[in-house]
Amino acid sequence: MKLESYVEGRWQAGRADGRPLVDPVNGEVLGSVDATGVDGAAALDYARRTGGPALRAMTFAERGALLRAVADALAARRESYTGIARRNSGNTAFDAAVDIDGGIGTLKVYARYGKELGDARMIAEPGTVSLARDDLFAAAHVWTTLPGAALHINAFNFPSWGLWEKAAVAILAGVPVVAKPASATAWLAHQMVRDVIEAGVLPDGVLSLVCGAGEGLLEGLRPFDALAFTGSADTALTLRAHANVLAAAPRINIEADSINATILGPDAGPGDAVFDLLVREVTGGLTVKAGQMCTNIRRILVPAGRLDAVRDALADKAGRIVIGDPADEAVRMGPLVSKAQQDAAFAGLQQLTRDARIIVGGGVPGALSGGDADKGAFFAPTLLECADPDAARAVHEIEVFGPVSTLMPYRDPAHAAELARRGGGSLAISIFSDDGDFAAATAAAVAPAHGRIMVVDAGVGKNHTGHQYAIAHCVHGGPGRAGGGEELGGLRGLRFYMQRSAVQGAPALLGRLAGAAAEASL
Ligand code: NAP
Repeated sequence: MKLESYVEGRWQAGRADGRPLVDPVNGEVLGSVDATGVDGAAALDYARRTGGPALRAMTFAERGALLRAVADALAARRESYTGIARRNSGNTAFDAAVDIDGGIGTLKVYARYGKELGDARMIAEPGTVSLARDDLFAAAHVWTTLPGAALHINAFNFPSWGLWEKAAVAILAGVPVVAKPASATAWLAHQMVRDVIEAGVLPDGVLSLVCGAGEGLLEGLRPFDALAFTGSADTALTLRAHANVLAAAPRINIEADSINATILGPDAGPGDAVFDLLVREVTGGLTVKAGQMCTNIRRILVPAGRLDAVRDALADKAGRIVIGDPADEAVRMGPLVSKAQQDAAFAGLQQLTRDARIIVGGGVPGALSGGDADKGAFFAPTLLECADPDAARAVHEIEVFGPVSTLMPYRDPAHAAELARRGGGSLAISIFSDDGDFAAATAAAVAPAHGRIMVVDAGVGKNHTGHQYAIAHCVHGGPGRAGGGEELGGLRGLRFYMQRSAVQGAPALLGRLAGAAAEASL
């Protein structure tokens, strides 16, 4: 099997042998991926000339219907995707569901937003502001679709969700998409796009896919295009500094890595529901996708007096996770996606041990339920403890993209918030506490450094949506080292693909515009 690219309205094979697609459970080569000779600039141009006008001619409701049709086409083939996710990403059935159903679910959410926006093609913000006496001259703000293409470059850990959460928002906004999945796990994205194209539910040029390195993509960007990237901070820097990205000045959104934290409130101790909820959340973070989630809890901040209790509870849980071949239904955690990721995770762990000692894990798991310990990319759930988080640097700065999290004590609420901010800007933080004053004050104190804050008390219990999970209705992205980007957030996500213009004129003219637009606050 060799993955092809879908560009300029047809499937095209790369000219070279390409990179192998590997089963990380046992090292078996499944196929290859290559886009040598596939013209990325032509792909963007085709999307701009063909898909763009088709989408812009449609209303939001019609574009929403397209998204619903894509979701239905994928749902019809849902079962076939789990096997691909298992073989190419080492996913358990649960891991695969997070990725696959997360993607399909996001498409459905944005399909509903399209229906709500109705038969309009632009959005008017509510209200006008008077700019002259007697209201003879006023201003309103309207959003219209950028006449470009969207280039979506995605990370390896979410080949489905990463593809569809970006594509759903762009297509609803009226912008055609050229998506580039990460090569190592591109099989799932490739199969899903193949199924959608075969279902014939999208106008020509609305969705293109480049499987492989993607020659000419960055060079092909033009003004009015949008570049949305998810991946490492290093690659983000390369993209930001690319000569044509600087020259053509497309919109850029970066979702990069992040040293997220969770905080146990000073009120919480063993026997309290919030204590157990935090332990459950951290354990889930270590387990799901073998810890390869950008929103994962990398630092666990606990009151100094609770360090022993939290350590014992987490070590107990981590030691009981069944690791191995996800084909075995008893397995709760599979391997990392590749040997390269395993190597990178071990190298990162080595750096964390400058600041912290390993409590559990720290190597290839001793016991595997299936899979090959040598050829596979397994990594034991690993808990570290950092006694002096003020002096430490690595634990606040190095993301080990695997099942690795570091426990650290805080002295008082202000210290907890200060340590959380040492992440330099993060995607998500959670607070587990029944002390409303502490929780509210801490949420406000950490907010400038975080894109999403989840606060859990005993009343919320298990009804929360999870520290790790990005939700279509809420913004996803974080400041600083997390990339400074923002995705999703319901209708807010449309802003990236639309231009807000202040229109100044007579109130009657503004009324005409408003009459042709959907009213919404983005
Ligand atoms: P990566 O190595 O930075 O790769 C990300 C994407 O960029 C891949 O599609 C890759 O393609 C592509 N790429 C690499 N170099 C490129 C270049 N010079 N020009 C154009 N494209 C280029 O990241 P990764 O290893 O896939 O993902 C793991 C990282 O992503 C972690 O650090 C994680 O925290 C972060 N992440 C962040 C979020 C978020 O929402 N903030 C979500 C998921 C993951 P190839 O695969 O073909 O090289």
